Amino acid sequence: MIKFARYEKNFEKEGITKEAQERLLASKVLIMGAGGLGSGVIMNLAAMGVGQIKIIDDDIVEESNLNRQIIHKYKNIGRAKVISAKDWVQEFNSDIKVELDKINLNELNYFNVIQGYDIIVDCFDSYESKYMLNEIALRHNKILIHGGTQGFRGQITTIVPSKTGCLACVMQKPKIFKEEHLASLSPVVNVISSLQALEVLKIVTGTGEPLMNKIMIFDGLKSEFKILNYAKNIACEVCSANER
Ligand SMILES: [Zn+2]
Repeated sequence: MIKFARYEKNFEKEGITKEAQERLLASKVLIMGAGGLGSGVIMNLAAMGVGQIKIIDDDIVEESNLNRQIIHKYKNIGRAKVISAKDWVQEFNSDIKVELDKINLNELNYFNVIQGYDIIVDCFDSYESKYMLNEIALRHNKILIHGGTQGFRGQITTIVPSKTGCLACVMQKPKIFKEEHLASLSPVVNVISSLQALEVLKIVTGTGEPLMNKIMIFDGLKSEFKILNYAKNIACEVCSANER
C-alpha cells in the first residue's frame, strides 16, 4: 500500500497531482556518481518519493568529501560511497528501493548497468566521464539530466535523444581533458543537484517545462541564473555518429 501521508505536501495546492505522485512512486532513476551532486540528487529523490533508484560509484568516502557530499557521514569514512548512500536512504525512507553498483563506469562495462533505467542523472565529477555518459545515453535512447559545477558556477540541462541537442552540441567536447582541481562548494553543488532532481520530477510526471534545448547557468558569486537556448548542432560528432 502506498503511504501517501509522507508525500501529502507534494500534492497540495500549486504542487503536483496525486497521479503525478503515483508516477514518481512507480519510477526508476539511475544516478551516476554518489559524490556532491549525487548526494543532493539522492536526498531529493528519496524525499520526493521516486520509487526506485540505482546508484553507481567506485569511490570510498574520504574526509575531504565531507565539505559538500552531505549524504555521507563521518563514521562512513573508508566505506564504499554506494553503501554509505544506501544506508542514508534506508534510514530516511525505507520504502525506496535502492540498487547499487560499485563500478567505475566505462565503455566496456556500462551495458548491464543501464538496463531497466530510462532516466540517467549525471552526477559524475569528471568531464571526461560526463562526455562518455552523454554518448552512452544517446546511443541507448536514455534521457540524461546533466549537471556540473566549477567553483561558484554551475550548469544544468536535460538531454532527450531525438528531441534535443546533446552535451557536445551545447558544450564542445575538448580534444584533451585536463584534470583541473576546482573548488566544490556545498551550496553551489546543492543548488545544481536540487535543479537536477526538479528535472527528474518534471520529466517523470509531465509537469512544467524541463530544460530541453536550454541550459541553465548559475553564478553564485553574482547571484544570477541565465538560460541559454541551444539546438542539435548538425556538425556535432556525437549526434552524427549516433545517427549513422
Ligand atoms: Zn550532439
